[in-house]
Amino acid sequence: MKFDLTPLLRPHIVNLLPYTSARDEYTGKEGIFLDANENPYGSVTDEDYNRYPDPYQHELKAEIAEIKQVKPSQIFLGNGSDEAIDLLFRAFCNPGKDNVILLPPTYGMYEVSAGINDVETRKIPLTADFQLQPNLILQAVDENTKIIFVCSPNNPSGNKVDREDILKLLQEFNGLVVVDEAYIDFSDEPSFTTLLNEYKNLLVMQTFSKAWGLASLRLGMAFASKDMIKILNRIKPPYNISGLTQQTVLAALKNVDKVNAMIADILQERDYLRNELAKLDYVEKIHPSHANFLLVKMPNASHVYDDLIEEKIIVRNRAKVQLCEECLRITVGTRTENTAFIQALKKIYTESFNL
Ligand SMILES: *Cc1c(COP(=O)(O)O)cnc(C)c1O
Repeated sequence: MKFDLTPLLRPHIVNLLPYTSARDEYTGKEGIFLDANENPYGSVTDEDYNRYPDPYQHELKAEIAEIKQVKPSQIFLGNGSDEAIDLLFRAFCNPGKDNVILLPPTYGMYEVSAGINDVETRKIPLTADFQLQPNLILQAVDENTKIIFVCSPNNPSGNKVDREDILKLLQEFNGLVVVDEAYIDFSDEPSFTTLLNEYKNLLVMQTFSKAWGLASLRLGMAFASKDMIKILNRIKPPYNISGLTQQTVLAALKNVDKVNAMIADILQERDYLRNELAKLDYVEKIHPSHANFLLVKMPNASHVYDDLIEEKIIVRNRAKVQLCEECLRITVGTRTENTAFIQALKKIYTESFNL
């Protein structure tokens, strides 16, 4: 399929003149900088933060490009993945006119961002085992459908989505297919980034918030064609990634071994948690997980959720979510945290339900 980006964009975005910052107009590192109204003496802190950061994060992207095996021009960095999601709505979706397709149960931000941008959402639920219904999805598409959001491994179910189904959407939908891979580091599934050159309508999102343990820094990645990345760069706030985040993540990228060791520990703990839960008669279902959490069906889930809070153990209550009825979503913790959770669960079922 021949994919043409321009007709998908909101017309005013095509011709938008972006803000050019002082750091766009002169990119050299040496010199006397009297161009950006910064403080010449330094900062009030011990470290100096007085200079505006690189608006396009060149050093960081060069490193990420190596690790992810993509070109720097195929990378957009956002203040969390949430910024990339919002920018996609602003670039592609005319408020009150265009629509996007969501596949519930899934990550809540797609719908919130659609709401903020006054964009209609069309919902095609996943199957009972949380797979796509590609034919129904494609039937829901009309000339105003701009984006389909796929999350794999999916939050809150944890499973990976069948690859063939995503490929079908990429091949047959003449719009943007977003594959949110926030949990890909916990999965044996290869990333869709390997298909960027093949599918110009593909955008893959990943994040430093989960496996890398850097949620507080707020750094999300989007990978797509060079042309798509150019659009996101044109509409982003000029200095959307702080200098502190850029430096810290650049240093963190040298520690791939440590990340891999933490991932291995989390996967081991995921197995431990699954095995311990499986021993409990009242646990009705532990859904397959390719992520760092388990979706677990148990009776009186909302009541159990409240009782767990009394024990100062906080999980995510998904009991009211379509297809997740009576389910809690439990993030894999350390061994100490996981055993404390199991102990608390046993206590609650014994004391509250005589089970
Ligand atoms: C956690 C998560 C993200 C990450 O969001 P950030 O804004 O990068 O922290 C993205 N997508 C899904 C599905 C998630 O669960």
